[in-house]
Amino acid sequence: MPSHLHPVSFPPPDYAALADQIKAWGRELGFQQVGIADIDLAAAERRLAEWLKAGFHGEMAYMERHGRKRSRPAELVPGTLRVISARLDYLPEDRSAMRERLDDPAAAFVSRYALGRDYHKLLRKRLQRLAERIQEKVGPRGHRVFTDSAPVLEKALAEKAGLGWIGKHTNLIDRHAGSFFFLGEIYTDLPLPVDAPVRDHCGSCTACLDVCPTRAIVAPYRLDARRCISYLTIELHGPIPEEFRAALGNRVYGCDDCQLVCPWNRYARLTEETDFLPRHGLNSATLIELFAWDEAAFLRNTEGSAIRRIGHERWLRNIAVALGNARTEPKVVAALRARLEHPSELVREHVAWALARHELV
Ligand code: SF4
Repeated sequence: MPSHLHPVSFPPPDYAALADQIKAWGRELGFQQVGIADIDLAAAERRLAEWLKAGFHGEMAYMERHGRKRSRPAELVPGTLRVISARLDYLPEDRSAMRERLDDPAAAFVSRYALGRDYHKLLRKRLQRLAERIQEKVGPRGHRVFTDSAPVLEKALAEKAGLGWIGKHTNLIDRHAGSFFFLGEIYTDLPLPVDAPVRDHCGSCTACLDVCPTRAIVAPYRLDARRCISYLTIELHGPIPEEFRAALGNRVYGCDDCQLVCPWNRYARLTEETDFLPRHGLNSATLIELFAWDEAAFLRNTEGSAIRRIGHERWLRNIAVALGNARTEPKVVAALRARLEHPSELVREHVAWALARHELV
């Protein structure tokens, strides 16, 4: 047998040293933090069941469909003993730029995570590299990498792994870095030592509950997604309920208000990833400019972006609402009128609503 076909034998790993090494490799690969958790998500499973029972997930039927696979990692990937969670910061510009955009009714506000390239590919590649390094050290072991790509309770797992606490707005917060970050996971069968969770530091603060334009945080730690602007502008397929349209303001894709107001985001650092920097002027475009994109321009300008998933029709739906909330000006009215005969009933109805706001229909 040629020598290169001899099976390579790996000594039994020192799991504590390996856990330290995984964190160091994670930092080398550009992650801001890596932590390890066991797979007991019983408390999160109870919270998820209550949330689903209350119907807070709205049209996101997939949340129910996956059943307990979401809260039981070993049912999703048999043999899983630990989950390695990794954090990647994405904030592309400082918070004052966000406030300026939100305060300008002619400007389009796009959630900061969606200004640049879709993060899934980059995050996945990097997690895969981390998994490969682990394999090079300990030999082929069971593992799978996830980036929001399967039913994974990523915030609960990251909280268990010590990456932060789930705040009253239901996002994960790190005391030293705020909450503008993506999470990815490696499910592994290695019995690594786990990290300790951190304490909740929300205290008596209620800033996110108070600022939410649609009152979607119905109680601390309880988000009614059906009211959330991220859900309304991204997940929802049909018409945006009229009761929320004025509150949308100029937010055309997602909403960052609860994160923007959170005092812990004073410590948020700007991303070092060029992939997450704004593309196609999405951080400076006006509503009128974006509303003028035809379908070809929409597809061209959202190539490789998270925005593409909503399609041109819902893009126009969202911007029509924002134009309805803009100041009454001839150019706003002209832009809306130009879409009054759009082939989509969804778009036409939102355009008519917007024109009615300007008392023109
Ligand atoms: S705004 Fe206040 S209550 Fe909300 S998550 Fe941040 S610290 Fe917690």
